[in-house]
Amino acid sequence: MERQYDDPHLLVLKDKVHHGDARDVTIGDDGVLWMQGQICVPNVDGLRELILEEAHSSQYSIHPSNAKMYKDLRQHYWWKGMKKDIVGFVARCLNCQQMKYVTSADRDSGVEVGADHHRLYIPELELCSIDLSL
Ligand SMILES: [Zn+2]
Repeated sequence: MERQYDDPHLLVLKDKVHHGDARDVTIGDDGVLWMQGQICVPNVDGLRELILEEAHSSQYSIHPSNAKMYKDLRQHYWWKGMKKDIVGFVARCLNCQQMKYVTSADRDSGVEVGADHHRLYIPELELCSIDLSL
């Protein structure tokens, strides 16, 4: 995490800590910035995207919703606008988009689909739809 100080925003935070202006932020012995116990992720080299990718696509067979992702990631990471980034990431996920497309195409085409068919898709739709309460 030595890359933290490549991010100007985190440099400002560090400065604030030194001036006693940022009570929520602490600096570890190794110089790492922590926000209320979560590591501050710098905005460098797509690092944040990487974390989102990891949390969204690799851990689960069914993609988690942005609300679930935020809850999980928030335990370990912090960055400014994290919630917004997660919502954007899930909205851009091709897999989640496809799932939505398939479901709405079925509905729009007016084809009668059986109850079993519905049951197949509904959990995916719920998991991947954007949670507006965020
Ligand atoms: Zn997805």
